[in-house]
Amino acid sequence: MESNIYVLDATAFIGLDFPHLQMIPNSKFYTSLKVESELKDFRSRTNMDILKHSGRLQICNPEESLLKDLKRRIQAIDPKTPLSSVDLDILTLALQLKGTLISNDLNLQNAALYLRIPVKIISGKKITHLRKWQLKCLSCGKIDEKGIRICPSCGGDMKRVQIYPNNKKLE
Ligand SMILES: [Zn+2]
Repeated sequence: MESNIYVLDATAFIGLDFPHLQMIPNSKFYTSLKVESELKDFRSRTNMDILKHSGRLQICNPEESLLKDLKRRIQAIDPKTPLSSVDLDILTLALQLKGTLISNDLNLQNAALYLRIPVKIISGKKITHLRKWQLKCLSCGKIDEKGIRICPSCGGDMKRVQIYPNNKKLE
């Protein structure tokens, strides 16, 4: 279920994907202000300018209330998420605009999978399994999902461990 609205993270502006991106018919592209300021290298900036001048790229910020809600939901799959504030903005925009995410970042794809945001991959790898993480105590094995650092039972260190809630392959 792909819409003609595409939300681009920084990886979409880099490298070989870009010419293919431009050829997607009837497409409207969106990205966030944070992605715009994150793009530093000449090639990515040039690619962004090309899309901007074609009138097909809108740069906007996600709604605050949606962003807050999204952060809470992301906690459920990973209490210590490696996603940056740039990534969280992009995911929120994709939900807000009901768009398809274009990203080669596997952490971002995983979160999109969980949030049921469609993902389009042009040249990179696409993840096949939803991955979740928990925090586990190194001393007593207690599991926690709320992002605490010290075990409430024994005072040991909580470590981030990956779990697989289901082994079914996703299409
Ligand atoms: Zn413990």
